[in-house]
Amino acid sequence: MVFPGKRKAIFVHGCFWHGHDCAKGKLPKSRPEYWIPKIEANKARDERVIDELKKLGWDVIVIWQCQTKSLPVTIENVVDFLGKRGVAVGDALSENELNEGN
Ligand SMILES: [Zn+2]
Repeated sequence: MVFPGKRKAIFVHGCFWHGHDCAKGKLPKSRPEYWIPKIEANKARDERVIDELKKLGWDVIVIWQCQTKSLPVTIENVVDFLGKRGVAVGDALSENELNEGN
């Protein structure tokens, strides 16, 4: 989700593909030589993208897929982050659903 007018961006990261340090982010036991570089490359890319946005004066928040399980908390974070009440919660939900497959 990107809010160009506010220069704020929200990333919803799938725990597995973005290498979150949680139960869902654990790599498969088989073929670590395949998975480790793949996930590390994703993490490096995430960092680069976030760094670039911050350099351009953007505020960036990352929400992990596992955190979306407690949606009221997540939405509160998002609303706080945007500094605006009445953000379109429905949009946030559908964005999460879109990212479910990541
Ligand atoms: Zn996670």
